[in-house]
Amino acid sequence: MPAETRLFLCLKDNYGVLLHDPESGATASIDAPEAAAVEAALKATGWKLTDILVTHHHADHTDGIIELKEKYKCRVVAPAAEAEKIPAVDLTVREGDKVSVGKLSANVIETPGHTNGHISYWFNAAKLAFVGDTLFSIGCGRVIEGTPGMMWRSLTKLRDLPDDTRIYCGHEYTAANIKFSRTIEPNNAALAAREAQVKEQIAQGKPTIPVTIGDEKLANPFLRADLPEVAASIGMTGKQPAQVFAEIRARKNKF
Ligand code: ZN
Ligand code: FE
Repeated sequence: MPAETRLFLCLKDNYGVLLHDPESGATASIDAPEAAAVEAALKATGWKLTDILVTHHHADHTDGIIELKEKYKCRVVAPAAEAEKIPAVDLTVREGDKVSVGKLSANVIETPGHTNGHISYWFNAAKLAFVGDTLFSIGCGRVIEGTPGMMWRSLTKLRDLPDDTRIYCGHEYTAANIKFSRTIEPNNAALAAREAQVKEQIAQGKPTIPVTIGDEKLANPFLRADLPEVAASIGMTGKQPAQVFAEIRARKNKF
């Protein structure tokens, strides 16, 4: 039986998501932005929380952990490199480690930049990836702790996942990301098409995620910093991809 997911908004613009293995009954919350919202999703689905898979230490991803763990006795899995900043951790993981949620299995991919220990969880067989605040739909996270070069490498690791991988990210920022990205690639037809699609989704009150890696590769300028046309469109022909990425990220910070 395929993995099931339940996506919900919480806090201001955070996404919570549950991942459920129907075979074993195991259920993971990816991050724990807000205990009440996670519990409401559990109630609505009838699923029982067995695991929390943490992507990074920021409060809007970890504030719900203690309350949920006390209530459900679930296991808390967190990145080794920042485990001391995350409460109630049971298992620390690094690049290449595997994490199971029932019979579902994830590879841990280290994706530093937003924070230095940030990780993503790639469920290869289920074709799902939970990328926290590294990759957003038509955007990427702010480079808070790491360097732009580090973030660029992390994004290319995610870009290398199979095109049909569905991406769940930590925030609903898509509309604002598109508005900005149109200034970087005004002639990108895939981006224009996504803009129309997202307008429709928002008008209908629907989430704009998950998105596939294949679609992001066509329309997300932060994944396209090594394309000559992207460098050219911001006047950086011939520059290194990490420099082009850094410039796009800097422009977004000021947008
Ligand atoms: Zn964050
Ligand atoms: Fe966040």
